[in-house]
Amino acid sequence: MSSKQGSRVHVAIRLRPALKPHEDDGKEPCVRGLSDKALEIWNWRDTEQSLHFDFDAYLDSKASQKNVYDRCVKPLLTHALNGQNASVFAYGPTGTGKTFTMLGSEDNPGVIPRSLNHIFHVINQEKPKEEGGGDWSYSVSFSYLEIYQEKIYDLLEPKGHDLSIREDRKRNIFIPKLAEKTINSFNEFAKYFIPASRNRTTAATKLNSRSSRSHSILLLKIVKERKDGSQHHIQTGKLYLIDLAGSENNKKTGNKGIRLKESGAINTSLFVLGQVVDALNQRLPRIPYRDSKLTRLLQDSLGGSSHACMITNIAPEEKNYMDTYTTLHFAAKSKQIINKPFTRETTQTIAAPPPRKRPLEEDDRSRST
Ligand code: ADP
Ligand code: MG
Repeated sequence: MSSKQGSRVHVAIRLRPALKPHEDDGKEPCVRGLSDKALEIWNWRDTEQSLHFDFDAYLDSKASQKNVYDRCVKPLLTHALNGQNASVFAYGPTGTGKTFTMLGSEDNPGVIPRSLNHIFHVINQEKPKEEGGGDWSYSVSFSYLEIYQEKIYDLLEPKGHDLSIREDRKRNIFIPKLAEKTINSFNEFAKYFIPASRNRTTAATKLNSRSSRSHSILLLKIVKERKDGSQHHIQTGKLYLIDLAGSENNKKTGNKGIRLKESGAINTSLFVLGQVVDALNQRLPRIPYRDSKLTRLLQDSLGGSSHACMITNIAPEEKNYMDTYTTLHFAAKSKQIINKPFTRETTQTIAAPPPRKRPLEEDDRSRST
């Protein structure tokens, strides 16, 4: 994967466990894992077929938070610790586990706390030069922002207005007025981050909440410095950890007015992200970064020598089938239609056959007598 060719976006699928254990009782799940990279779903257009998808990773409903982190995220951290850019996205419909994957809970921490722990662990383990270690010194800082209706809002120091994106002469993308906190430990990070993330997630109804309609973006900057005689080396790595807006089709939920405007903006950003990912993975000459705020912000962290993973979350319940179907199509780099029915066994109680109806003629004759 040379930087000249541009790097591919790795795509992983994570299936959430069923939340209500008996909801789909008596039904086979409509999603089935085939290996640690492949899965199949039934094809609603033709029940004689199964749809087979291949990804870089498939994490089934038993996959732990650690499994997800180890497989999809940990390898990217090495790059961010070595002056390169990397990004991790959680993509998928609302309620499929994006926030669980990125943030998790206290007992079951997700990608964000695990990544910060690892980064401080690596930095603190680096031996001083006199003990044979490298002579790099590190400084870590972070920003936290939200893109809502194609506007950028600071979550650490809310300013109530849209912030603009700039590009410097070295083609680095930055937001001039965005707050940036220097942090020396995980606890220091949590002190700033927890209140800011709590603000974002307090909303009335889940599906209509702002948090499910906006992209929340944590940007971690790792600066490494070393003095070598008269030379001063500086490396800056950026890591984006992104909880994307819900990818469900909002038209279906009958949203009107402001909601419809919101849906449109969300769909534009996700739509462009999909086009950027496709263009990178197909090595197309034009990558449409400038067509949305999200992709413009990520321009220096997607493609080129950057590394990225999209963790696509899906749900197992039959009622979510159509969202699962469109989500997998969005995420897929390859799909095969297999001409064999997706065996979905349903358990039915065998009832006595209904009484046989007599032919009309017989009926009429019997009535006339
Ligand atoms: P999203 O952010 O995509 O809307 P959430 O992360 O809020 O979805 O997940 C919806 C619900 O499912 C939450 O109650 C969450 O705790 C639970 N959940 C999601 N993924 C898992 C998982 N892998 N294991 C256990 N519970 C999960
Ligand atoms: Mg969420």
